[in-house]
Amino acid sequence: RARAAGSGAVVTYDGQMRAALLERLEMQAHLQTALDRHELVLHYQPIVELDTGRSTGVEALLRWRHPDRGVVPPSDFIPIAEVTGAIVPIGRWVLQTACRQIARWRLVDPTLTMNVNVSAHQLRDPAFPEDVRRALDASGLPGAALILEITESVLLEDDEQTLDSLRALKALGVAVALDDFGTGYSALGYLRRFPVDILKIDRSFVSGGDAGHDDGDQLVRTIVELGRAYALDVVAEGIEDEGQRQRLVELGCSHGQGFHFGRPADEESFDARLATVHPLVPRPRAPRRRGA
Ligand code: C2E
Ligand code: MG
Ligand code: MG
Ligand code: MG
Repeated sequence: RARAAGSGAVVTYDGQMRAALLERLEMQAHLQTALDRHELVLHYQPIVELDTGRSTGVEALLRWRHPDRGVVPPSDFIPIAEVTGAIVPIGRWVLQTACRQIARWRLVDPTLTMNVNVSAHQLRDPAFPEDVRRALDASGLPGAALILEITESVLLEDDEQTLDSLRALKALGVAVALDDFGTGYSALGYLRRFPVDILKIDRSFVSGGDAGHDDGDQLVRTIVELGRAYALDVVAEGIEDEGQRQRLVELGCSHGQGFHFGRPADEESFDARLATVHPLVPRPRAPRRRGA
């Protein structure tokens, strides 16, 4: 297309590609040091019981506070971190940080759980289950406090190491959730082969393009039934309004997360949320007023 527009356009196109490549290389190099520079932070999004609104836990979502670019979303840097392998130390840091955080919140509500996203690259690392065990131990947590989110594609590779790792995680008492469920494949035999505990219905069927249509509803219903058949919990992602919440309850879905209940936000935000439910939690002290 660029060629048809004339040679000048070709140069521009090449120039753009070069710029994009350079930007990528720069990100790649910078990402290696982002951890040491304390530029990575976790945000937390509540996961709730759909009929009561009670939080059962949170999902940890990674953010990169880039000195020049501002907050970079994970979709822009996790793929790069996966290619370079930087995802392994970064993932280890995410686990440790998330475990420390949930241990603190469990002092207030000991039933709360922490969801952590795990990439295929991490799961293929034979040292991964040991990393998880260490992160739990360091925070004095039982395995049941932790839920690891993986995508279907990880299981479709049907890798022996992945299966071994999932079994080792299971032995620790850690639960496994299938993220973005419904977007991938229809051969569900792997649900029997792999130890999976939770299905997370992809946002596209909840508030995205397929939501509110018969197709979307049918898919939600199917996943809920699948959950019953395999004794799996079902969590809907991307709930953005009250109508969607009600619809999901009608369709038999028990848990969910989404902007309707709370956006991913820093730890203070979930502190404040806990404090409204558990009034004994010391609130952050209000700034003292002059003369008060
Ligand atoms: P995910 O695990 O499926 O996370 C849910 C994404 O949906 C998050 O995007 C969240 O901010 C967004 N979301 C939540 N509620 C709503 C809603 O009501 N409406 C809409 N439109 N979006 C909603 P985010 O934070 O940009 O993360 C994107 C993806 O990056 C995650 O998808 C996950 O796959 C990956 N990711 C995030 N943190 C980590 C991490 O620590 N490690 C790894 N390996 N991947 C991560
Ligand atoms: Mg997730
Ligand atoms: Mg998801
Ligand atoms: Mg997703």
